[in-house]
Amino acid sequence: MKAVACQHGELQLTDSPEPVPAQGQVRLEVLRCGICGSDLHARHGSDQWADMAVKVGYDRFARTSQSIIFGHEFSGRVAEHGPKCRRTVPAAAPVVALPILRSGSVIDTIGLSAHAPGAYAEQLLVQESMMLAVPNGLDPEVAALTEPLAVAWHAVRRGEVAKRDVAIVVGCGPIGLAVILMLKARGVHTVVASDYAPGRRELARRCGADVIVDPLTDMPFTAAAQRGGHLLDLPAALELVLDTREKLERLPVGWWHLWRLGEKLGAMPKRPVIFECVGVPGVIESILDGAPLLSRVVVAGVCVGEDHFTPAMAINKEIDLRFVFGYSPLEFRDTLHMLAEGKVDPRPLITGTVGLEGVAGAFAALADPGEHAKILIDPSSAAVEPIAPGVGER
Ligand SMILES: [Zn+2]
Repeated sequence: MKAVACQHGELQLTDSPEPVPAQGQVRLEVLRCGICGSDLHARHGSDQWADMAVKVGYDRFARTSQSIIFGHEFSGRVAEHGPKCRRTVPAAAPVVALPILRSGSVIDTIGLSAHAPGAYAEQLLVQESMMLAVPNGLDPEVAALTEPLAVAWHAVRRGEVAKRDVAIVVGCGPIGLAVILMLKARGVHTVVASDYAPGRRELARRCGADVIVDPLTDMPFTAAAQRGGHLLDLPAALELVLDTREKLERLPVGWWHLWRLGEKLGAMPKRPVIFECVGVPGVIESILDGAPLLSRVVVAGVCVGEDHFTPAMAINKEIDLRFVFGYSPLEFRDTLHMLAEGKVDPRPLITGTVGLEGVAGAFAALADPGEHAKILIDPSSAAVEPIAPGVGER
């Protein structure tokens, strides 16, 4: 079969042996595979990432010297069940799968390990227990976005965003756009999106962002504070404390009873939920500097290198900093069903499709933040340049 392998940073179209499913595994024919920011990073920087993975007990992450077939955001069709499969999804059925594969006693990450080749290929192996039938005749292009949207859905759930909260999305690359889509799917009224690139701001608008900010001219936090009534500085917080205390003093009941009751009823100053979707050094620091007091910050951008920030700034503002990773099988399943039921329309995310021959070119195109969000690979296509949706051979 044809596959694109990456070794020493070089992406090359190769002839690979057709994979044979072991016990509990299923061979899929790949219909679409998304190119992820992780793949772009792993192309040159996988060693640093692999060293980090060793520290959390996984020593089979991709190394630059190995030949790796990327691709963990895919949709496919069942081609062959391995031994001892339950066969609940029949042959030829369209499916998606969580990108983890059990090989003997070890579990590997599909598309980011030499031991579990990914979907930049005509075929790949998945774990039957991690596989889900695609319902409602959902387009394989859209089904392939289940994985990145599940990442966003997990981030939104970890952010505990209520409909009346103001959400601020910093960075409108594929992760930021997916977060915007899922915030709107959850019914959050006000989503503020911020990005330097005009093309990405336009995509944010198409994904449903309510307020769109160019950080060169406007602070997203100021734009959000106007709508949300957030505490932008320390004097405002002190004023609120003193003012509340003085107001309660005038009532005939002990102020501490009222304060305690207020706490029980969840009365507290409004604060935004901020999603960091950039993942480069300095972004967390700039968010801590600009964020309103009491903000909740959800870090979804993957910065693999070192970064620094000033804890006292976060302390002064009592900022709640949360990091998010992956998703649960339930979040993955729910995301697939939200897509199939039309509750989320991720098509604005898809900015191009290439064949396997076009993968290297697509990586180059994705380096320019203005033009593309998600480029999909269609192994049956001969396209060398990314074809925009609705154009030419699809
Ligand atoms: Zn990904």
